[in-house]
Amino acid sequence: MESEHGYLIVGGGLAGVSAIEGIRERDRSGSILLLGGEADLPYDRPPLSKQLWLGKKALDEISLHDREWYATSGVELELGRTAARLDPAAKLVVDDLGRRHAYQKLLLATGGAPRRLSIPGGDLEGVCYYRTLDDFRRTRARATKGSSAVVIGGGFIGCEIAAALCQVGVTVTMLFPEPHVGYRVFPPALGRFLQQAYREHGIRVLCEDVPVAIAATREGCVTTTRSGSRLESGMVIAGIGIQPSLELARGAGLPVGDGIVVNARLQSSHPDVYAAGDVASFPYEALGRQMRIEHWDNAVEQGRLAGRNMAGANQPYRHLPFFFSDLFEFGYEAVGEVDSRLEIFADWQEENRTGVVYYLADGRVRGAMMCNVWDKVEVARDLVREGRRAGPADLRGAIR
Ligand code: NAP
Repeated sequence: MESEHGYLIVGGGLAGVSAIEGIRERDRSGSILLLGGEADLPYDRPPLSKQLWLGKKALDEISLHDREWYATSGVELELGRTAARLDPAAKLVVDDLGRRHAYQKLLLATGGAPRRLSIPGGDLEGVCYYRTLDDFRRTRARATKGSSAVVIGGGFIGCEIAAALCQVGVTVTMLFPEPHVGYRVFPPALGRFLQQAYREHGIRVLCEDVPVAIAATREGCVTTTRSGSRLESGMVIAGIGIQPSLELARGAGLPVGDGIVVNARLQSSHPDVYAAGDVASFPYEALGRQMRIEHWDNAVEQGRLAGRNMAGANQPYRHLPFFFSDLFEFGYEAVGEVDSRLEIFADWQEENRTGVVYYLADGRVRGAMMCNVWDKVEVARDLVREGRRAGPADLRGAIR
């Protein structure tokens, strides 16, 4: 056996590192090994499409902890290393070098990998499926003033990276299948308003269209769309969603669906194997169903709880995660089920700029998005948790 540890964490993202903090709240001395696929010291992902571009953060400020913290926390870091095989009965993980790691408790925090375009040219080196620090470095180096980019996808990455590139002087064309940006979260009027703001910032927005082929040129790429547009650009950046990394769990025979299926204590079907973050499908108590959530706050809180539970806490996950985004002048924080297919009531102080959008099902609040309204996440959480019937008269002015 190459190594034996009390705790083994597979995945060096936010959930994996938060689990270390959770373990150490209860167990000061148990040995911890973290296997992380990326060579960089674990880092915070939101700045990759936000602050790093605007000079609000520097590269050396995004590490979650410095090396010394891991050393003093008694954590062995194996970076640039992935887990290739898991045997839950033998409590054993084999890494990509064939080395065997025994554990008492295991956390799978394997996150997800970007979905890729299955079109001719989708695998070209010039097409960046934006997710990692390496992707930032590569893109930032090419994003010189006056350069050009095609951004594919109108979701979180597409919207944030298009705004970021535009703000450093890159000429941007966005391309995505829906009628407006942020289609899954914004009500139509807000989505159309924001799309207009993107255009006013000089971004060319091609909605209701998709790429059908990408070819390399001497200067970069040419993207052909279904409607027949031909888009030449220095670079192509795609953010078309992620797929949870389930291979390890699936290979080990653990139940997987949309994610690794865990109970409220974040335990998989094997009691010594936990999962947290983007990869975990968990019973979301406040919304009454099994869900998988791909946001920052969920990774922090699930990671921490998984760590505490691996160290014996045995507590259920009751947290109601929030998420946030900044799109030019429009910033928001959101809680619960923020899905444009729900009933929507918008309580604007200034239309499409400042106010709160409520998302309801059967007249009960399932989610809320605070638009340029700050520090109200707790109030929104209470509203969602209460789950009582509420109409416009109850909600108007409920969050200011
Ligand atoms: P996303 O938000 O799911 O958006 C994917 C977008 O790509 C959607 O507009 C989708 O349209 C579109 N799309 C799908 N297939 C396409 C195709 N073949 N051609 C063109 N467009 C296509 O995913 P993401 O933006 O890639 O973000 C990845 C992950 O990072 C997510 O987990 C997200 O939560 C996370 N993230 C979060 C934040 C934040 O919380 N602020 C910021 C950045 C990233 P359809 O809806 O029609 O499929």
